[in-house]
Amino acid sequence: MNEPWVKVYNAANNLEAHSLKGMLENENIAVQLSGESLGSAAGELPADVVQVGIWVCENQVTAARVLIERYENADYPDWRCPNCGEQNEGQFEICWQCGHDKHTF
Ligand SMILES: [Zn+2]
Repeated sequence: MNEPWVKVYNAANNLEAHSLKGMLENENIAVQLSGESLGSAAGELPADVVQVGIWVCENQVTAARVLIERYENADYPDWRCPNCGEQNEGQFEICWQCGHDKHTF
């Protein structure tokens, strides 16, 4: 069964898009990104020139918007991984270096 996809957000760049995608997928929301290929084709341009659309299934739009709003309003502090000592940005739930969950100590 094919749900229609709805764009719920324009990310300013690929990094933000992928952070949001990861966050939404953690909540079992399927995500598609648009505009990425533009970004890599225009390799000479700074990455933040190209906006990336975040698309979710129509029946998950409401849930996705709530999560995105929370993401936008939250001011996450950076955190240091207790496992490997790596410094991570606050919006990431797991250490990019070793995969350690931020909430597990
Ligand atoms: Zn780590």
